[in-house]
Parts: sequence; C-alpha cells; structure tokens
Amino acid sequence: MAAGASDLPRRGDRSLAAEPAAPNNRAPHPDSELDMPVPTTHRTQLLIIGAGPAGYTAAIYAARAGLAPLVVAGLRPGGQLTITTDVENYPGFAQAVQGPWLMEQMRAQAEHVGARIIQDVVIAADFSTRPFRCRGDSGDEFLADAVVIATGAEARWLGIPGERELAGFGVSACATCDGFFFRGRRVAVVGGGNSATEEALYLSNLAAEVILIHRRDSLRSEKILQQRLFARPNVRFLWNTVVEAALPDASPRPSLRALRLRDLRSGAVSELPVDGLFVAIGHDPATAVFRGQVAMDQAGYILVEPGSTRTSVPGVFAAGDVADKIYRQAVTAAGTGCMAALDAERFLAASRFAGQEAA
Ligand code: NDP
Repeated sequence: MAAGASDLPRRGDRSLAAEPAAPNNRAPHPDSELDMPVPTTHRTQLLIIGAGPAGYTAAIYAARAGLAPLVVAGLRPGGQLTITTDVENYPGFAQAVQGPWLMEQMRAQAEHVGARIIQDVVIAADFSTRPFRCRGDSGDEFLADAVVIATGAEARWLGIPGERELAGFGVSACATCDGFFFRGRRVAVVGGGNSATEEALYLSNLAAEVILIHRRDSLRSEKILQQRLFARPNVRFLWNTVVEAALPDASPRPSLRALRLRDLRSGAVSELPVDGLFVAIGHDPATAVFRGQVAMDQAGYILVEPGSTRTSVPGVFAAGDVADKIYRQAVTAAGTGCMAALDAERFLAASRFAGQEAA
C-alpha cells in the first residue's frame, strides 16, 4: 500500500556558523567516563539528506558520476515505502513487490555504485556559508559543496483507533498506490481538499461505491474538481461527519470491516461497512530544519525553479515529496532525485571551472 517520507525531529533552526568544526576522528573522548565517541566532521562534494526513492536515486546517479555522495539516511531510511505492503506501480516489476524490499534494493544499488550511507538525522543546516554545513543528531558535522534535500513528506493521519493497526490492510493514504486493490468494493475517503477530491475521483473509476466523508458541509477543493466528483453516480457524500474508529474484521489476516462515524450536528453515532478507508487530510513536508535557509511555500514545501530541482540557494537542490504536493509518487520522487543529481553535477562542474578561471 501507500508510499512516502521521513519524519525528522522538529528541533527548530539552529545556525552552525558560530560552532567550531569537530575533530575528524571517532576515538573515545579522554575526559568521558562513558567512552562516548567524539563527533566527526564529514567532508563531501555532495550531501544527500534523506533516503527515500528521491535520495537513493540521487545517490545512484551522483555516485556513477564520480561525485562520491554521502547520504544521511534520517529516522526512517527508505521513507514512506517502508510502511507500504504491495507496490504494483513502480515500473520494472511484473509482479507486485513489497515496499521495504524495494527500498532495500535501492539502498543496495546506491552502495554498490559507491554512495556512502550514514545513519544520522540532520537537525541543523546552514546554507549561508561555503561549504554548506549541516549537523546530525549524533553531533557529527557535514560539510558539502552541494546538497540535495530529499527528506520527503508525511501523510497526516486521523489518529483514530484502528487506523495504525490497519494501515496497509484496508487503511491507506494513497489511492493511486492502493486503489487497485479495491476494484468493485466499497471505500470511504476522508477530507475535503484537492487531495480528497482527486482520490475520490480516482477511486470512483475502480470501486463500486465511494463515500466521501467530510467534517464540514462543503469541499474546499477547486470547483472544477468538485463538479466532476458531484457528477459521478457511484460517489456519495457524508457531510458534517467524522470518523471515530476503523473497525477490524475478526479474520486472522487483519482487514477493515467498518467505520464508526459521528454526525457532528445530531451527535448520532453509526457504523458504515466499508472495505477501504483512504485518509486524504493533507501532508506535512519534513522541512522544519531548513526553514529560513531555502525558500518555501506557506505549507513548508521547498520551492524549486520550474523544470529543475534548483532551490533559492545555488548549490542546494530539492527532490521528491519535499518539493511536490501534487504527484507524490515513488516514481516521480525517483525521477526528481535523478534530476537533482544531474543538476548538482552541473553546478559542481561550473564551480570547479569558475575556481580554475579565478586561479
Ligand atoms: P488541504 O489542507 O487542502 O485539505 C485537507 C482537508 O482535510 C480539508 O478539507 C480539511 O478539512 C480536512 N481535514 C484536515 N484535518 C482533518 C481531520 N483531523 N479530520 C477530518 N478532516 C480533516 O490538503 P490537500 O492535501 O487536499 O492539499 C494540500 C495542498 O496541495 C493544497 O494547496 C492543494 O491545492 C494542493 N494539491 C494540489 C493538487 C493539484 O493541483 N492537482 C492535488 C492535491 C493537492 P477543512 O476543510 O474543514 O479544513
């Protein structure tokens, strides 16, 4: 089932500029009774932050271009695909593959061609200095001539009982990824924005019935999308209604049986039998640590020049869901990861040329 991104800790933005570079070794600190390793400074041409399809693809291309990239893998290496079961829409596999397996393969491929992957979480970044500086949760410091940000985005969840347990077993946050498994079935979509409307439209081509459940009495999506959805004969709407629980089937393999609903006007509680629940209440890009460093939109998505992965800072590139609120697919993330590596390669070549000219 559905795919996506990392959840970096939100510790706020901290400038690294005033801090001294740490010694470049991992020897035990002489003063430490606990034998704690001292922080290491990693110097690289290209730092890739995030290890989902975008980060790994950037690493594969950059390594093959001789850039010896360093990947900081984040809290959940592999990203949203690691919480996905069957993946049927990633090209190259005639049979469905498992999300975690696919990500292991990408990692192995990146390492095989020479990328170095470090288990750490970037908690601070300073893109005002050259080289760029980032610090990991471990205390390690990363100095890089170019950076690819590929930290992804996280689907928002309702936080109701049963939702987490049934994720991948009837509960999803991606109709494009998982709608196929609900052909001829009855599914519910929660939300009232563009995502929910598009998910419901997509599902109405596959499912026997789609029930859109929204906490208010009108959608906030674009009018044209609304008109299309209202015209679908197999879509109905439950307004002013919230989902309070996803109720499991009693069968040994977990599956969704029904939703417990509450009508916000009358307070009435009811059960709605469904085979699938698609939660479409928005995404949160994992960009808190880069706030103030690169230009973002109001929702925190990194802004890139159209048709490229270039951010507002020359030498810093963004790939995958962190800069994409529309497509959000593993394959589009991989595609922009490739673009970011090529953009970085060109940037580094131009910087070297400029350096030679100046010398
Ligand atoms: P939005 O934030 O636009 O909409 C989220 C929806 O979920 C709202 O209707 C909101 O309700 C509802 N919601 C939020 N939290 C809860 C909750 N806890 N319980 C129940 N309902 C909840 O998110 P989208 O993902 O739809 O869109 C995000 C951005 O991406 C937008 O700018 C959108 O235009 C863009 N986008 C563009 C697309 C395109 O151009 N094709 C496709 C998808 C997204 P309420 O309305 O009451 O606040």
